[in-house]
Amino acid sequence: MNASVPGCDLPSAPARQSSALDEFQRAHALLQSALHAARVVAWTSELRTGRLIYSENASAMFGASLPQTEEKKWAAVHPEDEPRRRAAIHEATAQRGDYVVQYRHIRGDTGAAQWVEERGQILFDEAGEPTGSTGVILDISDRHREPEEALARLRAHSEQQRRLYETILSNTPDLVYVFDLNHRFTYANEALLTMWGKTEQEAIGKNCLELGYEPWHAAMHDREIEQVIATKRPIRGDVPFSGTHGRRMYDYIFVPVLGVDGEVEAIAGTTRDVTERHVAEEMLRHSEERLRFMAESMPQKIFTAKPDGCVDYFNRQWTEFTGRAFEEIRDWKWMHLVHPDDAPENLLAWRHSIETGEPFQFTHRFRRADGAYRWHLSRAHAMRTGDGKVSMWIGSSTEIQEQKDIEDELRRANQDLEQFAYAATHDLQEPLRGVKIFSDLLTRRHAPRLDGEALEFLTYLHAGATRMEMLIRDLLSYTQAGRLEPPVKPVDAGECLNAALANLTVAIAESGARISSDPLPLVNIHATHLRQVFQNLIGNAMKYRRPGIVPVIHIDAHSENGYWRFTVSDNGIGIEPEYTERIFGLFKRLHSDEKYSGTGIGLALCQRIIDRSHGRIWVESQLGKGSQFHFTLPR
Ligand code: ADP
Repeated sequence: MNASVPGCDLPSAPARQSSALDEFQRAHALLQSALHAARVVAWTSELRTGRLIYSENASAMFGASLPQTEEKKWAAVHPEDEPRRRAAIHEATAQRGDYVVQYRHIRGDTGAAQWVEERGQILFDEAGEPTGSTGVILDISDRHREPEEALARLRAHSEQQRRLYETILSNTPDLVYVFDLNHRFTYANEALLTMWGKTEQEAIGKNCLELGYEPWHAAMHDREIEQVIATKRPIRGDVPFSGTHGRRMYDYIFVPVLGVDGEVEAIAGTTRDVTERHVAEEMLRHSEERLRFMAESMPQKIFTAKPDGCVDYFNRQWTEFTGRAFEEIRDWKWMHLVHPDDAPENLLAWRHSIETGEPFQFTHRFRRADGAYRWHLSRAHAMRTGDGKVSMWIGSSTEIQEQKDIEDELRRANQDLEQFAYAATHDLQEPLRGVKIFSDLLTRRHAPRLDGEALEFLTYLHAGATRMEMLIRDLLSYTQAGRLEPPVKPVDAGECLNAALANLTVAIAESGARISSDPLPLVNIHATHLRQVFQNLIGNAMKYRRPGIVPVIHIDAHSENGYWRFTVSDNGIGIEPEYTERIFGLFKRLHSDEKYSGTGIGLALCQRIIDRSHGRIWVESQLGKGSQFHFTLPR
């Protein structure tokens, strides 16, 4: 208010008019205060003199030194805004009206730009010629401050974003770039420049061909860029390229960059070095090819299945054997070729393996192309990933028809042989009995008339006949071992033991053996067979006792892995470990007949019986330390 604005001083008035003048000066002061409070500067200009007159608050609002002429005033307007202001004034002059224009005013004191709004009116004389103008200038920097701040924030944000992207793009190993619509690079990140071995200045603005790409390669990218522009869709590919890192394999993608109008304005691309992956894939493909070749050239039938059991590969041997195309037998369709009698159990076994991951093994018949069923032994194993999950099944089926035929033949031959042995031994008993009876009669009735030598021969004859009788009896038991049908209901092993002991009464009395047993279970075996096993094992335990030592024999049974394990232990002479398997062979003995009489059939008979009952028999022993004969029977 104190600043005086040259040219705006009020004209001096005569003293007699003092009261009117006072009144005027008060009104003037009031008006100045109002203008100041409203941050409005009033002004008037005169065209003829070119002078400008401002209200008193002007110097405070615009900075100390104010332009005094219209021309100077323009100089205080921001050069970018001056044309706009002038245009508004011209328009108002032409239209004989008012104008409003906003512009930046350059402050006289600080030189800072300040947003103002000028509202003006052009003044005319009677002839219609412009004489000057008058109006107000409002300080509107408040209105502009907010958008300016927002703009500043936006700038700071986008600057931060730019730094962020630049850091990412210059540190990624991937190659990142942008093409313009003329296929020229407008951006290439550090990795790409390094791969090219070029600086930004050398590379930007060039196309592929100019950057030394082989013509076919550059032409391919040209086509792809055009396709991205035309379809507005990304395109992907892989290509080998020889850069500063040598010849490498690259996987790339070009994507369209759409402008606000929805049109493609550039093409952005990223390229990744996939050499290692490519090499690994190649190796995998090669090894798969090798495996497939191996599978195709093997005589076995090979298949692979997914973890859910669906067969996804059969080799040529399969398709040739079945006479079916792969599509006809894939997944679970091969089941139709399994013999109807084997199929249900086959299905159960395969399902069990899939559920548990346990190896699959099954013997079943498959229908050949000519309709004949052939026996096969199939096996499959699960292949697992690092974390133990089943990734696939690999299986083979081997035709065992010939083996089966031989087995059948052997079984038939064995049956015939058994039949023959049974008949022969049975028929031998009769004449043998005659030899024994007549040699007895001869000894008893004619002994006085026979000389010493004849009597000695008769003794040999009798001993030989007795031994032969024993042999025939044991052989008969042996041949009969397979003839008895399995029992309908389980038998009491305790009762079988008692029956055996009853048959051994004489031997027990003679040897003075002490025999004990634990309670024994019910088992699925013919009572005669179990009695025979006990009788042989206990009989041997007494026979092979240590001289001068009372035989102590114990029998017990324990449940073990779905079986009963029986044990007959003794304190006899024991067996050298190297003979523990041999003694189960037919006619295999470790001692002479003079020392321990016997036929070498007892243990062979035991093994035959236990084998047929799906069990196992073995001995644990040491010479001089007694023996434990074990045998198992299914529960
Ligand atoms: P055998 O008793 O008629 O000779 P086995 O088949 O019963 O025929 O036995 C075969 C051989 O095993 C016997 O000759 C004997 O050497 C040996 N053996 C069997 N049981 C025992 C036992 N409890 N202790 C020591 N040796 C035995």
